[in-house]
Amino acid sequence: MFEEGKRLVVKGWVYRIRKLGDDKIFIVLRNAKTILQGVVDRSRVEDRLWKIAESLYIESSIQMGGTIVADSRAPGGYELKVDELEAIHVGEPFPISKDQSEEFLLDNRHLWVRSQKLTKVFQARHHLIRYLEEYLHLNGFYRFDPPIITASGAEGGADMFEIDYFGNRAYLTQSSQMYGEAGIFALERVYTFAPSFRAERSRTRRHLAEYWHLEPEAAFVDWRENMKIQEGLIEYAVQKFLANHPDLVEYFGIRDKLERIKSPFPVLTYYEAVDMVNRLGGKMEYGEDFGADEEALISSQYDKPVFIVKYPKKIKAFYMKQDPDDPELVLNDDMIAPYGHGEIIGGSERIWNLEELKSRMREVSLPEQNYQWYLDLRRFGSVPHSGFGLGIERFIKFVLNLDHIRDAIPFPRTINRYYP
Ligand code: ATP
Ligand code: MG
Repeated sequence: MFEEGKRLVVKGWVYRIRKLGDDKIFIVLRNAKTILQGVVDRSRVEDRLWKIAESLYIESSIQMGGTIVADSRAPGGYELKVDELEAIHVGEPFPISKDQSEEFLLDNRHLWVRSQKLTKVFQARHHLIRYLEEYLHLNGFYRFDPPIITASGAEGGADMFEIDYFGNRAYLTQSSQMYGEAGIFALERVYTFAPSFRAERSRTRRHLAEYWHLEPEAAFVDWRENMKIQEGLIEYAVQKFLANHPDLVEYFGIRDKLERIKSPFPVLTYYEAVDMVNRLGGKMEYGEDFGADEEALISSQYDKPVFIVKYPKKIKAFYMKQDPDDPELVLNDDMIAPYGHGEIIGGSERIWNLEELKSRMREVSLPEQNYQWYLDLRRFGSVPHSGFGLGIERFIKFVLNLDHIRDAIPFPRTINRYYP
């Protein structure tokens, strides 16, 4: 990247600074693209420049210029012999130093976003989202932007954040699926990409109260083709990332893991998955849903994502189409990521017949009056259709193999934190 003997002027922030004896100051500059060590040699620069170097703090913003020389001791193998230095803003001593508690770092998230790790996560996030959208675009999907404020929830009022809407009760959206379903009648294939809000009291490493949700929905697609789209989407984004961002792949140490994310992904039925959990030492009854521990047991058997299909309708949303071979089951799938990251996608074929949908709503006691517009979609030229939801931060946590979902988003909202 750097060329010996070349003159270079860079802008950025002081990442590290160290005085060596009385006559040298090493300034490691970081910016979005690079890390570069500059050395200020007192005997070779004017006094003004030396004083600037002495005045700098970690995170002071600077412009630094000089000549590149190879130096194996410098990070990246090159060093800048500084002959030009301006402080853009010296500022105050930076509050974050080494070995600070997780709480302190979260309280100072607005400053901690500058850290190397988060900078790399945000770069990876940008590219991964780009590849997901690219795959959808190449496969005929249009982006279709939904509202965030809604009159009622996708699955009833539980776990929703209520807001005052000019004196009326409204909610922050939990899922944009129903709006996506309206969109397919215009565009056939759409995806919504928006935040979803969940007021669930889950304190886990994979639940946020606000997360970004990518929800494709497609007309004339059954549940099996729906799974093909999911598999294609995940494989495409992961393989593009692997091919185009070796620096990020090395930083996170994920090459071997990502190389294995190739279709086809294995498929288990719900019953097979429950049996597998019990065989591997878990304890589960038919009819129960998989928790984090059960998902970890299942995913430990594979080194790629696995589909679990055809869940009991009792533990799934009312709009999922029943299995014609067994009406107690639905034509759905969850995609479970490997290495204990758990569920990243939930999808299904949707009920497209009006009477069938109404009868399911009665079974689960959902009031029809709140869903008239949704029922309308089954009144005027209804078509078979399917869709799914991918949690972007869950996906990033899995791809980058992060410990906690909060690091997959710049400003995480969790049960006990919404500042800064
Ligand atoms: P879980 O059982 O893990 O709580 P879910 O069954 O509630 O997930 P869905 O309602 O099907 O999830 O949502 C679709 C996708 O959205 C999930 O597969 C997951 O990727 C993501 N997701 C759901 N809840 C959260 C959350 N609280 N934080 C981050 N992502 C989430
Ligand atoms: Mg949930």
